Amino acid sequence: MGMSSLHAAFLLVTPLLLAVAAVFSAPWMAALPPELTGLQRLAPYLSLLFAIGIALAFQRGRIVLAATALLAAYWGYRFASGLGADTLAARTTLLAISILLPLNLGGLALLRERGLFSRFGLRRALTLLLQIAIVLVVIGFDMERIVAPVSIDPAWAVRGPLATIPLAGRAAFGLALAVALVATFRRGTAIEAGIAGAIATVALACHQAAVPLAFPTFFSFAALMLATGVLQDAYWLAYRDHLTGLGSRRALDERLLMLSGRFVIAMIDVDRFKQFNDRWGHAVGDQVLRMVAAHVARAGGGCRAYRYGGEEFTLVFAGRSVDDVQPLLEALRAAIENYVLTIRAADLSASPAADPSATPPKVAVSVTVSIGVAAPDDRRQAPESVLDAADLALRRAKDKGRNTVSR
Ligand code: GH3
Ligand code: MG
Ligand code: MG
Repeated sequence: MGMSSLHAAFLLVTPLLLAVAAVFSAPWMAALPPELTGLQRLAPYLSLLFAIGIALAFQRGRIVLAATALLAAYWGYRFASGLGADTLAARTTLLAISILLPLNLGGLALLRERGLFSRFGLRRALTLLLQIAIVLVVIGFDMERIVAPVSIDPAWAVRGPLATIPLAGRAAFGLALAVALVATFRRGTAIEAGIAGAIATVALACHQAAVPLAFPTFFSFAALMLATGVLQDAYWLAYRDHLTGLGSRRALDERLLMLSGRFVIAMIDVDRFKQFNDRWGHAVGDQVLRMVAAHVARAGGGCRAYRYGGEEFTLVFAGRSVDDVQPLLEALRAAIENYVLTIRAADLSASPAADPSATPPKVAVSVTVSIGVAAPDDRRQAPESVLDAADLALRRAKDKGRNTVSR
């Protein structure tokens, strides 16, 4: 738990840095020489199209929709405010950007990724189009009676932070941001963190709508947040194991290429795990793997932990000797042996072996691991051959009767 909220907090660093950059660059954008005004006008379109392109390439339908909504909102506001900031068109568009846009972004953070060219993606796209159509109808039919009551705040609400945004908009931004942050902490992916950043940045854009060039600057940065969210998430998918959150096999392979000098590799394998799965089912097996992974990650000694594959894990200790790490591995083995996992009956129903009428509401399960450890010596220097030696040591641990550390 603690580990995953730390990770979620880490995911918010990039959007936060981009938000700070946005706040500081808005005045600078206005100070650029006139030859560069074309660039200022172009920047939001370029970065939004960039975000859409990245999202399409990585098949992130939610981000395609979020960036498209930003694009429609930005273009709509440019067009409407060109007619005059006080026209109904401009006021309605800005109102929609401060109420509908954040609510949609928050909703997208909450929804699961279900593609763009799917029934779900299509439905989501139509929902966005419908809202655009409603805004156009309000403007086209001159429906001031709808816009005025939403934009004029009661006396008590005209103070406070972001007070240039109507109360309904502030509420929408607050709600949407809260939803996106909760989604970030629940799912732990950079996509939701990027959406949360975009919501906050659009709020700043609305707040400074009257400041020259603030709107394009903030929208450009919101687009960058969405794009970096997709890229960071893709990196995470490649280098992190989905089930356990440890480094993936790919991450281990790259780590091995960086190793030299003094280091230790330990291979960890869950004992008789096939039997365990057959008895309790794969869902319980997966819970046990997560528990084992959490222990492995905390082995200490400055190690890095990876899921080698299946029920096998690898620890890499740089700058250590086997004598240094042997006590740590022994402690790890004992900690896993002594750890009792309580499984709710609901999770057991997936097990083919479990008879629902005979299962108690909770059962306690535990596993043991065998560990093989090796370091470079005269015969082997290359990390891959040290890993092979650790694998052989693991075999010896199994042959000794399992639940042991062998060198
Ligand atoms: P040993 O003590 O010799 O290691 O016996 P074992 O049964 O652990 O070894 P074996 O390699 O025969 O079986 C490994 C089992 O691990 C097979 C598979 O059911 C299970 N397993 C591998 N990956 C996963 C996973 O991601 N989730 C679950 N639940 N089980 C997995
Ligand atoms: Mg195995
Ligand atoms: Mg095993």
